[in-house]
Amino acid sequence: MAKLMMWIAILLGLMFVARLIAHKQANDRINARKQKASSNNDPGAKANTQTKKRPAQQSNAPETMVQCGHCGLHLPESESIATSAGTWCSDKHARLGFRK
Ligand SMILES: [Zn+2]
Repeated sequence: MAKLMMWIAILLGLMFVARLIAHKQANDRINARKQKASSNNDPGAKANTQTKKRPAQQSNAPETMVQCGHCGLHLPESESIATSAGTWCSDKHARLGFRK
């Protein structure tokens, strides 16, 4: 029985340590983010931020939304069909043209 209690105590101790580590890692991540944000305002760190490329941020940038001239649906510009008359959500609406 004493052995079982010992193992339970060890297990609880390990769980406690794991929680502490996870908590510390979460805090480190938050602090790193805060430092990065504040360093953007720091003129001394400007050279550092300028050399960094951020393609991920560019791909996350919101795309221009256009409106279908026939049904009024809003859709990303890349998915729209553009003609000299306007932008459309589909070939069908491009053929139909502006709704009368
Ligand atoms: Zn449409």
